Amino acid sequence: MNFEFSPEERAFQAEVERFLADHLPRDIAEKVHRGESIGKADTERWQAILNDKGWLALTWPTAFGGTGWDPVQQYLYDEAAWRAGAPRTIPFGLNMLGPVLIAFGTPEQQGHYLPRILNGDDWWCQGYSEPGAGSDLASLRTRADRDGDHYVINGQKTWTTLGQHANKIFCLVRTSSEGKPQEGISFVLVDLDTPGIEMRPIKLIEGGHEVNEVFFTDVRVPVANLVGEENKGWTIAKFLLGHERTGIAGVGLSRQTLVKLKEVAASSRRNGRALIDDPLFAARIAEVEIDLAAMMITNLRMLSQAQGSPGPEASMLKIKGTVIHQTLNDLARRALGPAAAPFPAEALAGNHALVDDTQARNAARYFNNRKLSIFGGSNEIQRNILTKMTQGARR
Ligand SMILES: Cc1cc2nc3c(=O)[nH]c(=O)nc-3n(C[C@H](O)[C@H](O)[C@H](O)COP(=O)(O)OP(=O)(O)OC[C@H]3O[C@@H](n4cnc5c(N)ncnc54)[C@H](O)[C@@H]3O)c2cc1C
Repeated sequence: MNFEFSPEERAFQAEVERFLADHLPRDIAEKVHRGESIGKADTERWQAILNDKGWLALTWPTAFGGTGWDPVQQYLYDEAAWRAGAPRTIPFGLNMLGPVLIAFGTPEQQGHYLPRILNGDDWWCQGYSEPGAGSDLASLRTRADRDGDHYVINGQKTWTTLGQHANKIFCLVRTSSEGKPQEGISFVLVDLDTPGIEMRPIKLIEGGHEVNEVFFTDVRVPVANLVGEENKGWTIAKFLLGHERTGIAGVGLSRQTLVKLKEVAASSRRNGRALIDDPLFAARIAEVEIDLAAMMITNLRMLSQAQGSPGPEASMLKIKGTVIHQTLNDLARRALGPAAAPFPAEALAGNHALVDDTQARNAARYFNNRKLSIFGGSNEIQRNILTKMTQGARR
């Protein structure tokens, strides 16, 4: 198998790099390189620049305003973007709902919602999980009862990422209690301005506000907002999760984090020498670097073979990608030693004389990234999925 990029792919890579050098706002890139979180305004500014170029929806076909890029082009773009310091685009509309509407939506839904995702008119969030339904998602209890040409929704969603910025939420709701739990679930689009919806913040361990709880009380949603058929939402839910998990592999981000880790290890000193020259620490870095190289090749191989929605192989990428990223965070913590201890918010906000940016943000990043092996379906559940596949125990 040949893993060299072709001359055309190299030319494409150069074009991407030129575009990023010319159009990525420097202030945003500097924030990304410093590890600062990127707010709504900067995210929207960057997404608008990408949309003007036609490079926002990497995975969509050109007929719907996407790039039409093949998997290798998507990979090359992703890696160049992280290297340049581009912030990540928000996946809920672009990588999750968009592919769902393209595959399952009516022409009206496609014509209305897809351009709004591209133009930044809508910021979507994901209403899957509930307090009693995370790993066992099919046990969800949020009900949608039919009343004429509306559904009336009652229940609660939780862990809704960036819901505080959103104006829309796509939800899994129970429309029937007959048969297997999976057979009574529907996929609906909900306007967050509808009366009866309340969003409450959940504070994270590092002090940030990233996730929320959403409460629904007699929320009336037009039946036209149903995607696919009533009670057939489980198929759509799984299709969407395949896209979500592949995105979580995050090869480009991990490669950038590895570069930073090496910088920190080169400037940290232990026992009179640079930490990167310590055989034990160097071996740890080498191990994760080899894993990352292997995952990069696996990622490319799988993406180029995947037809439509990624299948269980997305679970493998999700496990490997998140474990690698958490290992990189952990090694950075070790490299920084006592300087990796949490710093107060005041130190993060200003130019604190005692700490540089890498150190000051390390603890927050380390703690925040504990989530990687949980969200999008925990890694234990992904291992169960893979075991069922490989042991022939597929249901
Ligand atoms: C930061 C963050 C952001 C999130 N964002 C969103 C979002 O935007 N929208 C959304 O809908 N959801 C979101 N989630 C929810 C996420 O998908 C769930 O947390 C996840 O699916 C796990 O479900 P749970 O939290 O209910 O854990 P549980 O299902 O209660 O699991 C607890 C532990 O038990 C293990 N476990 C459970 N069942 C099994 C089993 N059968 N075999 C082996 N181990 C098992 C799990 O792996 C886990 O370690 C987010 C979660 C986090 C932490």
